[in-house]
Amino acid sequence: MKYIFISMFLNSFRILACFIFFAFSSQLSAEWQTEDEAIMGTTIRVEIWHADADVRQKGIDKVLAEMDRVNRLMSPYIEQSQLSKINKYAHEGPIEVDQDLFELIEKSIEFSQLTNGAFDITYASVGHLYNYRKEIKPTEEEVAAAKLLIDYKNLVLDKHQLSISYLKHGVKIDLGGIAKGFAVDQSIQHLRNLGIKHALVSAGGDTRLLGDRRGRAWLVGIRDPANTEEVIVMLPLQDEALSTSGDYERFFIEDGEKYHHIIHPTTGNSASEVRSASILASDSTTTDALSTSIFVMGPDKGLALLNILEGVEGVIVDKQGKLYYSQGLEKEQKKSQNSSNSNSSVK
Ligand code: ADP
Ligand code: MG
Repeated sequence: MKYIFISMFLNSFRILACFIFFAFSSQLSAEWQTEDEAIMGTTIRVEIWHADADVRQKGIDKVLAEMDRVNRLMSPYIEQSQLSKINKYAHEGPIEVDQDLFELIEKSIEFSQLTNGAFDITYASVGHLYNYRKEIKPTEEEVAAAKLLIDYKNLVLDKHQLSISYLKHGVKIDLGGIAKGFAVDQSIQHLRNLGIKHALVSAGGDTRLLGDRRGRAWLVGIRDPANTEEVIVMLPLQDEALSTSGDYERFFIEDGEKYHHIIHPTTGNSASEVRSASILASDSTTTDALSTSIFVMGPDKGLALLNILEGVEGVIVDKQGKLYYSQGLEKEQKKSQNSSNSNSSVK
């Protein structure tokens, strides 16, 4: 893996409305096809290279259909979704669900165990009391009562029946911290099955790259959370997943306090140590769950976890704007600094 670190001089680049900026992604040849669509409350982007236009179109259709399927299965905003059904009835007894949903809940619990509870889909027991668009938040008393329900151990999974039940009334789950990554992984698998070898799929802050851009790496930038029109790090990537969680995505400010969509499971309030966490790994389910987790954990605990995980790297920007790199990225950064120093001394 090789990364380019460009800090200041990219300031003049303008970035459009997503977490990640696809530098130079306007494609050069007619064999590339690009599609943007609004699904799952976010922008879905698909870029595909294939010599056959029919295959490209099939790929785009498959990805959009998959995003739509996952949304209909897992959205808490769709009353008929299986996730809504669990939230409504699982305290009364086991609710059977599709295998995909069951396995994603299982995986979410694994991330809860890995992150010591920083990632916890039962955050929604408090989370559902917020409406960021309408600037609605729960009272302190409501948070204090509902946060007692946040605990993934309140979920009972039956592997044979593929069913979920809740130990307590009032527990709610939400897969907003992992489902988009899952949908991106599913999409990449569909594209592979069609024989496609070069593609980009992104859903809001979650991006996965299949292969390269035909001989060149994809250049992906991470936004500056203090000024989301600017880029702080550029990474040339291939066959890799990148997710960013930022406090600038869904929020409102009241009495000088920022209320955003990533909730600290122990306080029931928005996590406040970090402004953005970006994670690199081989699949988007992992990067999505970990970007949310590391955001909650903060720089110290977050870096400690990143540094013991094989094949996972990350960049964290804390509240003061300080940048932290995981060990693997820091090494690359030093290397690229050294090579640019030696280049300039030759000149
Ligand atoms: P997005 O790309 O939607 O901004 P993120 O990956 O940054 O998503 O995760 C934020 C989402 O994760 C929230 O909108 C919410 O649905 C969910 N979430 C918030 N806090 C937690 C938490 N502590 N554990 C698991 N999921 C969370
Ligand atoms: Mg996430």
